[in-house]
Amino acid sequence: MSKVIDGKQFADNLCEKLKAEVALLQEQHDLSPCIAVVLVGEDPASQVYVRNKVRRCEQLGIHSVEHRLSAETTEAELLTLIDQLNNDDAIHGILVQLPVPDQINDKAVLAAISPKKDVDGFHIENVGAMAVGENQMVPCTPLGSLMMLQDHLGDLSGKHAVVIGRSNIVGKPMATLLLQQSCTVTIVHSRTVNIESICRQADILVAAVGIPNFVTADWVKEGAVVIDVGINRIEVDGKSRLVGDVDFDDVQEKVSAITPVPGGVGPMTIACLMYNTVAAAKMQNNI
Ligand code: NAP
Repeated sequence: MSKVIDGKQFADNLCEKLKAEVALLQEQHDLSPCIAVVLVGEDPASQVYVRNKVRRCEQLGIHSVEHRLSAETTEAELLTLIDQLNNDDAIHGILVQLPVPDQINDKAVLAAISPKKDVDGFHIENVGAMAVGENQMVPCTPLGSLMMLQDHLGDLSGKHAVVIGRSNIVGKPMATLLLQQSCTVTIVHSRTVNIESICRQADILVAAVGIPNFVTADWVKEGAVVIDVGINRIEVDGKSRLVGDVDFDDVQEKVSAITPVPGGVGPMTIACLMYNTVAAAKMQNNI
């Protein structure tokens, strides 16, 4: 029998613990963790993501400050705002919702955020720290995925983990985290030859591709654990639906556990943003 890993429940449990920790920080240290969320332009998906993040902050007692900038904002204007936020001691985390409009170089933006306040874990200093096993701020989606894997499997050491996708925000950091857990890690991508046969060897299969229902039952080993990172909007019978990168109905019976879409990795990503914000506030106050 395969188990559907309930990412929403997992995220709710993590957030309950964080809420208690936030209350203690206030009570014992007079510290209110605070995140600044910056949204440039009016991308509808980004607006939904920002709304969900701010709502989670409110539930946990984390303070959030929203900066909504017009789509015409220049890179210099955005960098000035980031500089102000870097120098504001009341702000512990800075999140610039990606993508930013074309006139702004996203690499320059990520580099400008103080690594200590980089709750997304995308700053090159945090990426480098992870690469040498000295994790500071860890990207939220891979962190949430790892937490669910450890909860389900316990010790991951010796497992063969295959990560589909090599993006800087999901695939590569996911592979790094799994390697830190002593998995044997294979990353596959669009140039990989015999991708199905490599995926079929996986004890742990993480799909971060961005192609709806890309992974089918013949790609997975009996009893594997599958983490579906993909979020893809498709039309079914004239209705819009969210699906992952894994064909859930096809794969479910064959695997020992799988995350659904929606309700799997997505909620854990936001919960881990809260986790990083609390961690950043503590770190900046030597707690
Ligand atoms: P991305 O930057 O577009 O990277 C996609 C990766 O998939 C690339 O490495 C690409 O390979 C690989 N790929 C593309 N076509 C392939 C193919 N035919 N065979 C094998 N590999 C292929 O995407 P991302 O930012 O990592 O996101 C991946 C998915 O996760 C998206 O659906 C995104 O919406 C979702 N996502 C979800 C969350 C969440 O909170 N749940 C967070 C972030 C992202 P190349 O490098 O060779 O091009």
